[in-house]
Amino acid sequence: MEEADAVVVGAGQGGIYHAYRLAQDGLSVIGIDGGYNFGGVWCHNRYPGARVDSDSVNYCFQFSRELYSKWRWPERYADANYLFDYHSWVADELDVRRMFRFNTWVREASWSSAEHRWNLRTDQGESIKTQFLVMCTGALAAPKPIMYPGLETFAGDWAQTSRWPADGLDTAGRRVAIIGTGSSGVQCIPAVAANAERVVVFQRHPHWAIPAQNRPTAPGVQDAIAEDLISVHEKAFQGGGPTDARGSRLHARVRAGDGTPRRADEYTEAQRVALLEEQWELGGHGMTYLFADGTTNIATNEIVQKFVREKNRARVRDRRLAEKLLPEYPFGTKRLILEIDYYESFNQDNVQLVDVLETPIVEVTKNGIRTTDADYEVDLIVFATGFRAFLGPLEDAGIRNEGGETPKDAWARGPRTLFGLMTPGFPNMFHSATAGSPSVLENAMIEHEFMGDWIAECVAHVRANGYFSVEASEKAADEWTDVVDMYAQRLFPMRRLENQYMVHVNEDGTRKFIPFCAGMGEYVPRVRESAVRGYEGFVFA
Ligand code: NAP
Repeated sequence: MEEADAVVVGAGQGGIYHAYRLAQDGLSVIGIDGGYNFGGVWCHNRYPGARVDSDSVNYCFQFSRELYSKWRWPERYADANYLFDYHSWVADELDVRRMFRFNTWVREASWSSAEHRWNLRTDQGESIKTQFLVMCTGALAAPKPIMYPGLETFAGDWAQTSRWPADGLDTAGRRVAIIGTGSSGVQCIPAVAANAERVVVFQRHPHWAIPAQNRPTAPGVQDAIAEDLISVHEKAFQGGGPTDARGSRLHARVRAGDGTPRRADEYTEAQRVALLEEQWELGGHGMTYLFADGTTNIATNEIVQKFVREKNRARVRDRRLAEKLLPEYPFGTKRLILEIDYYESFNQDNVQLVDVLETPIVEVTKNGIRTTDADYEVDLIVFATGFRAFLGPLEDAGIRNEGGETPKDAWARGPRTLFGLMTPGFPNMFHSATAGSPSVLENAMIEHEFMGDWIAECVAHVRANGYFSVEASEKAADEWTDVVDMYAQRLFPMRRLENQYMVHVNEDGTRKFIPFCAGMGEYVPRVRESAVRGYEGFVFA
């Protein structure tokens, strides 16, 4: 039986920072990850076309000017391979590699209140005892299972975008089926279509997507950010953050509040069109927040919908096909997809769309995919069908508290956390950047830095005061869960009504929005304030 003060599960950006931070405070740390190297999603999701959709100059650690200045981001949106290299590099710079073991999944984690320790077992047969368990497993890490019958009979290759093989998969000259048109599918389709003999896209619903407008990082931008890094860092915690000079300028202005976005009806028609055109050229997520009431007023949202629909419709030559690629639901309510040449790829002779709502997939056969209407012969099937979001990685780790309750039991009516940092009933177990925190709606790098510092300070508080454990109180978690949902209702009610992975729907139809949607600017002061008040809402034993 090995022992460590803290076990950090996950070797993505969160795992790297938390391990570094806890080790800095003198704790012995063991890091565990099922992947083959650092990177988390950027290790597992290296499918063709995979790319970040936050500005790279911002999507990296910013707590140290020296560290920040050493790495260069040549593109606005770094691709997955570049990000994979960054994580490996930064893990070495921060000297955390020695703490981590790879190709290892935690399969059991149970809390003993007699020992005040978590007892872990891995799929490699290791047993580890630890006082603090820090789950840096991400919100989007556990792939959805593949439900189609017959996969075992398929003679070709298959892969999930979320578990792309380490040494890649050749798509050149092959016939490829791609199932799913969320962010992963939409990134993957044009990249595969560039060299495959044939691509058959199986779409259930189309999603809102706009051009990423990827481009080389403007000269001097990184140096300017580095020079001002401390204030940039703090600004990022306030919801602003550095931007590529031509990058997410509008987005940043809206979020940082240093320009005042106005309601759509405060502009003339010509002004609205000019703004929409400008935002289209800028790319990024700003399109959702361009007008002050774009997320609260359906009439304004429809202005954005109409503009984007017309732009994308014009990109596809076949009118009927174009209509099939255009969504109906309100703009930005599911995560907006930033794409590169997605719509244009359907103008290629080698790309075909199958609407699985019209002709559902029946089974996978030896030669490919059978729908109710046809057989599609392919050599490779790519499943871009998404994740068991938020809860998935916690379930897979086999976590149980003293009473045998799992996180799934605790979250039965929707995720229930205090600040997304702890679930009541699970002492000394922290989560980073998942349900109840800004999570998938914010720059994860900045979130992990903030949460890594907060958790390390909380752990230091436990140790300095001779406590055995810390836990979120039931009452505080209930109140926070209501705050999370209240913000969703107030700031983006349409998004909360959409069925998607960010919304938990109970059997009785009640809904809970899962991530905290008001941004780091609202989140950080609340979490800091709790700490200042002696960790209000947390119970120490
Ligand atoms: P996703 O958004 O959940 O999309 C899954 C896709 O698979 C959807 O089109 C879904 O159709 C389809 N699907 C699921 N089950 C299916 C079935 N049985 N038959 C047919 N189609 C099926 O997953 P994702 O694309 O992996 O993206 C998840 C999240 O990861 C994103 O929202 C984003 O936060 C993150 N991500 C980010 C990037 C990036 O740009 N940096 C890239 C990839 C992922 P329906 O829509 O009908 O459900």
